[in-house]
Amino acid sequence: MTMFCFQCEQTGHGTGCTTRGVCGKHDTTAVLQDAIIQTVKEIGFYNDHLRASGKRDAAADHLTLDLLFATVTNVDFDDRRLYSLFQNAIATADRLRRFSGATLPAGAPVSQVDLHAAKSGENLVEIAGEIAISRRKEAVGEDILALQELLTYGIKGTAAYAHHALILGKEADAVYAFFAKALSSLATGNASMDEWAGLVLECGHVNLKAMELLDAGNTEHFGHPQPTQVRITPKKGKAIAISGHDLLDLEELLKQTEGKGINVYTHGEMLPAHGYPELKRYSHLVGNYGGAWQDQHKEFTVFPGSILMTTNCIQNPKGYEKRIFTTGCVAYPELVHIEDRKPGGMKDFTPVIEAALAGPGFAEDGEDKSITVGFGREAVMSVAGKVIDAVNAGKIRRFFLIGGCDGAKTGRNYYTEFAEKVPKDCVILTLACGKYRFNKLEFGDIDGIPRLLDIGQCNDAYSAIQIAVALAKAFETDVNSLPLSFVLSWYEQKAVCILLTLLALGIKGIKLGPSLPAFVSPNVLNMLVEKFAIAPISTVEEDLKAALS
Ligand code: SF4
Repeated sequence: MTMFCFQCEQTGHGTGCTTRGVCGKHDTTAVLQDAIIQTVKEIGFYNDHLRASGKRDAAADHLTLDLLFATVTNVDFDDRRLYSLFQNAIATADRLRRFSGATLPAGAPVSQVDLHAAKSGENLVEIAGEIAISRRKEAVGEDILALQELLTYGIKGTAAYAHHALILGKEADAVYAFFAKALSSLATGNASMDEWAGLVLECGHVNLKAMELLDAGNTEHFGHPQPTQVRITPKKGKAIAISGHDLLDLEELLKQTEGKGINVYTHGEMLPAHGYPELKRYSHLVGNYGGAWQDQHKEFTVFPGSILMTTNCIQNPKGYEKRIFTTGCVAYPELVHIEDRKPGGMKDFTPVIEAALAGPGFAEDGEDKSITVGFGREAVMSVAGKVIDAVNAGKIRRFFLIGGCDGAKTGRNYYTEFAEKVPKDCVILTLACGKYRFNKLEFGDIDGIPRLLDIGQCNDAYSAIQIAVALAKAFETDVNSLPLSFVLSWYEQKAVCILLTLLALGIKGIKLGPSLPAFVSPNVLNMLVEKFAIAPISTVEEDLKAALS
């Protein structure tokens, strides 16, 4: 059995991970995830048929989100949980086949390896080892394969956002209908090059809808983010660090730790939580700990409390296994997993709290230091008049949206250097983990408008898009004609779907790095370059000069 995975930016040798993932994924885990993806395609096929006859199956729609999200980079490394998900997927595919009365066409790619014949986890790994990307490439050629993989990874990212939104009670049938349609096409392989390209862009539009749902869920529950000072040094006392995107987990943790003498710190993707009125009112939400996800091993090793991972980006927790916990879709072998809440109830974070109380906590306060977060669309648009005046008066020359994921590769220093070299009469909008490379630097302001506006995390790309659209409207132009440059970094599949959203909205001239996706073939890349003028990052000097010319 060999694995092959090239879905993320750090893929081995820039071409694919073949014996073990750079992320730490074992070959058995990779193969189980391939089996899950093949089965979710099959589910999509039957679900699409059901929908065509006017029927809906909410359980299948929700399971589709779980299955896709579990295979996103750095989410689930636990073979036991993945096998259980797979069994659920097979049972659902069987049920939908009977319910829909549909039959997969002879020769459909998902029929090539019969996963229904698997009798055990080991047996499945053997059988699923035959689902090789190289075989599909032989069958369809590298360009169709590239578009199919681009679509698959876009769908995975979109499913992650839809999953977060669903936790907050937000969902839309249009999103599920697209998943069924796109997965059905992937199941049968039945589409032309143009049709695959069309599905890829449609995924971008649907992802915007998923992010809109999540934005509505977050802002309706917790209010609109407000500019907020966030402490970035420790406070004396017992401590819990909470990482990931799930704000409801944070709220429930804050409720359960109230009055217990525990300070709660956000980590990684949870940083924007400090801007939400209904979360920042908890006085024991004291600050932000550490930097981006890839530094977690070093930072968690010395963190004197417990850690809760609510979504993706977990790494091997060797050395602190007893005080790190997972919940939701994220999982790692041997870690205690906090189970989902029952309807109307809360998750039970007792093990996390007990581990924090058993830890030493921080011995003393760190030096007072803070950063400002919370420049969501409402906050930025409330000073839109001031921003427009500054642009018209020539005080703001250009905006740079420097956003996206962070990662361990060296080429990512480009983004720090870029932010540092942005001229003083330009404003930086930022979002997602890439900003940890420069968000603690001092950028100053232009007539009281901060030069660094932290919009939030990757899901807040929705807010960034709304800001760009509103500015375009205010200047009576379109987004491409604004003095605005997009300088993006990608790592995993949520970044892929955001990129597809920007392309679907017709945004041109995006600079992308630190390297281009290994799964995109030269011809597909040319297509993207011709249509959207997307380009790899080069040197900071060259890219800045081009943007400012
Ligand atoms: S997710 Fe990325 S690092 Fe992990 S196996 Fe796949 S390509 Fe390699």
